[in-house]
Amino acid sequence: MSDVRQPMPRPRTVGEYVAARSQMIDTHGEPLRLAYCASCAREHFTVEPCAAEAACPRCASTSSRCRRPSGHEADAWHVERAAAFEQLCAAREAAGLPQVARWPENAPALFPWPAG
Ligand SMILES: [Zn+2]
Ligand SMILES: [Zn+2]
Repeated sequence: MSDVRQPMPRPRTVGEYVAARSQMIDTHGEPLRLAYCASCAREHFTVEPCAAEAACPRCASTSSRCRRPSGHEADAWHVERAAAFEQLCAAREAAGLPQVARWPENAPALFPWPAG
């Protein structure tokens, strides 16, 4: 697992995260690049696995949002999906691919988000 850490503290809100994104780096120390992804219909880092590759074990969503039992979109990913995503990132890193570097606090790369 890479020792490279983001150069800023872990954002506490999505707003702080959005502000930090342009300064964030990957596990090889290179700047991250954002790109629009047609598979999940949102912008994410090019090194990140796509949400479409991390189906949720609980609600089976493969879109960028999890779904509530009502069918409405959930505010955050289910914890099982966040864990599956982290495992996917770790497997790619172990295979030598750059991934989003972890926060200095040693928290998971991006998930779970604190409430807002
Ligand atoms: Zn995607
Ligand atoms: Zn889910």
